[in-house]
Amino acid sequence: MPDGNQTPNVSAKAAVMAGPAVEAQSWKRELATAFTDTEALLDFVGLTPAQLDPAMISPRRFPLLVPRRFAALMRRSDPNDPLLRQVLPTAAETQPTPGYQADPVDDAAARWVPGLLQKYARRALLITTGACAVHCRYCFRRHFPYNEGGTQHDRFAGALAALSASTGIEEVILSGGDPLMLDDDALAALLAAIEQLPALKRVRLHTRIPSILPSRITGALCAALAGGRLQPVVVVHINHPAELDEPARSALLRLSEHGVSLLNQSVLLRGVNDDLETLSRLSDALFSARVLPYYLHLLDPVSGAAHFDIPEQAGRALVARLRECLPGYLVPRLVRERPGAASKTVLV
Ligand SMILES: *Cc1c(COP(=O)(O)O)cnc(C)c1O
Ligand code: SF4
Repeated sequence: MPDGNQTPNVSAKAAVMAGPAVEAQSWKRELATAFTDTEALLDFVGLTPAQLDPAMISPRRFPLLVPRRFAALMRRSDPNDPLLRQVLPTAAETQPTPGYQADPVDDAAARWVPGLLQKYARRALLITTGACAVHCRYCFRRHFPYNEGGTQHDRFAGALAALSASTGIEEVILSGGDPLMLDDDALAALLAAIEQLPALKRVRLHTRIPSILPSRITGALCAALAGGRLQPVVVVHINHPAELDEPARSALLRLSEHGVSLLNQSVLLRGVNDDLETLSRLSDALFSARVLPYYLHLLDPVSGAAHFDIPEQAGRALVARLRECLPGYLVPRLVRERPGAASKTVLV
């Protein structure tokens, strides 16, 4: 198994050098050409640093990472493009803000063994890898200690041992990072091991990859996800309708055709999707790709992300209005994660 503690760029480049140019691996080649340099990304979308306010920065930790196909969905020469805003490091994220912390949802207290979290009844969450196909500036795990607990192999072994010694876990959630950054062999081995847990009914993946890197959603991957004993659920993470272009829709339809249940979670983000029109178009676009809106999260107060926050009252008002113009099944639940609570807190 590859070491999941590597940065995405390093692992993607290594994969390219190691493997033949087969179609099944095209997502790795695509990742290897992702933007990692702020100025190159800005140049690609027709902007200069001087056009940006607040000024851009080049962070040393949690560096910029944006696949080219995602950058190609951004409007040209628009410093306020909602997709650009999600990924562009700015000076605002270096401002310390009271109440904003490294671990805003107290993942540390939920740690069962390294890489395995349990907060809620009947489901456990496995941190499969720290790697993602894109770096979102508002990510609540942007400071997560992914390197704890030894190699990926050791962490998986420890997590599976803990799960087999327990009873009552019915659903394992593969999260991260992004679980679809594992290659097919690693994922198949993990799914096969999880399937052995007798009480388990469902396996769920939390992933941003279907819209960020749809070439990852190969027929072989769909078959691996849907071919076992467990009911597969994929919760994607799409914040804006512009993220759902034709390749992303096809990837989602492919998953759906294989029998995978599809849900979406978004984060309510200032300047990205904090208006009625965008949220209603998002629900529409999701459903046309067979995805049901699930959660709309209020921002977790992670340090570096305060400039994305929408106050709870404004969020409630927005979702109440959304309910007036959409069928009930297209309205996501507005939720906040309160550390220590027995579930996500549903606000509307
Ligand atoms: C959010 C979360 C879940 C999933 O909660 P659902 O309400 O079932 O979607 C599970 N485990 C952890 C640790 C979580 O943070
Ligand atoms: S894809 Fe998810 S885990 Fe990765 S940076 Fe974005 S929000 Fe965080």
